[in-house]
Amino acid sequence: MTQTSITRSWVASANGHGDFPLQNLPLGVFSVKGSAPRAGVAIGEHIFDLEAALEAGLFEGAARTAVEATRGGQLNAFFELGRDARVALRERLLELFAEGSTLHGKIEAQGAKLLPLAADCEMHLPAKINDYTDFYVGIEHAQNVGKLFRPDNPLLPNYKYVPIGYHGRASTIRPSGTGVRRPKGQTLPAGQTEPVFGPCARLDYELELGIWIGPGNEMGDSIAIGDAADHIAGFCLLNDWSARDIQAWEYQPLGPFLSKSFITSISPWVVTAEALEPFRRAQPARPEGDPQPLPYLFDKRDQAAGAFDIELEVLLLTEAMREQNLPAQRLTLSNTQHMYWTVAQMVAHHSVNGCQLQAGDLFGSGTLSGPENGQFGSLLEITEGGKKPIELASGEVRKFLEDGDEIILRARCSREGFASIGFGECRGKVLPAR
Ligand code: CA
Repeated sequence: MTQTSITRSWVASANGHGDFPLQNLPLGVFSVKGSAPRAGVAIGEHIFDLEAALEAGLFEGAARTAVEATRGGQLNAFFELGRDARVALRERLLELFAEGSTLHGKIEAQGAKLLPLAADCEMHLPAKINDYTDFYVGIEHAQNVGKLFRPDNPLLPNYKYVPIGYHGRASTIRPSGTGVRRPKGQTLPAGQTEPVFGPCARLDYELELGIWIGPGNEMGDSIAIGDAADHIAGFCLLNDWSARDIQAWEYQPLGPFLSKSFITSISPWVVTAEALEPFRRAQPARPEGDPQPLPYLFDKRDQAAGAFDIELEVLLLTEAMREQNLPAQRLTLSNTQHMYWTVAQMVAHHSVNGCQLQAGDLFGSGTLSGPENGQFGSLLEITEGGKKPIELASGEVRKFLEDGDEIILRARCSREGFASIGFGECRGKVLPAR
């Protein structure tokens, strides 16, 4: 049975599921009430408990080795095993869950022990994140933000040579659903020369793709661009919550610091490169006159298939919308094709100086805005720094986020002839400063 020939699952809710049909099979770490966090795979409305399945004898050979590496409620050791282990597990999962599987009865007989409802589970971070790096490869965002500060020269001269990034804070990365406490800090009021201290007044979101690192490199070695794909374990959604007023005062000359490190939210499911294979695209051609990437950042195969067509969405649900039973309102519809650098280029660049990457490291892509209204991946861009408030269906207006506002990120991949897959949600609700 090949992957492409399998289309339907005996798990009824998987067929046509918006995020988790049989073709996706993302990994995550979950717990049911009273149990320790453990690895699972999302399928339809259910989670397949990998530890329980291992005990039930459902894996052997390479797939068994892969599942054994997921034990302990962290996927780092599994990420470390790399692509072959991931593929072996995926092939076995496709066998187990395909319509007509000989093991259908055996799995179903164990009910919620093997296949609890996702609604009954809590999701956790999928791995221990040792390091988190946030890039800035969304060129439309870089231009939109640059324009606010430097109308004549929005992009700095290094942008088209260097995949710009900075080291973020790993200790405050949290899974979807975690509340977002409004941070306090120093800000410089307009027209003043001395800062004041208090709650952030310009709280914002950033729509980003998260990239999970698989096998790492030894310190001192570099990952060649042609090998970079082997070092990527999977993908998620990432909200790089940003305190714009704190950021504006603190960011020079070393970049963002406390304006970003109070929390970063991620969607808890790791969508694999294998699931995303049908949605790979050629990296968009660089505009006429742009420099070629330096040789260590250029690979023909990466240029031919190193980009992704992933539709990205941001929705806002305010307290008043909840009270009026209004649906969440879409703020942004964008796509990962607005990345100026590919994920392979990020990996090659990050390690080119000998910096060690490790399994379970997380990258953020940078905000992925499109060029048009409705495609901007932050309120900073949508409201032009607060100058153009947006009106909401509830009759409210927003320049930046208010307490009680919830931001929901979603992603979806669609292509004629293939099952659509999604990432699951990345949600976070703003809590008042304390
Ligand atoms: Ca960011």
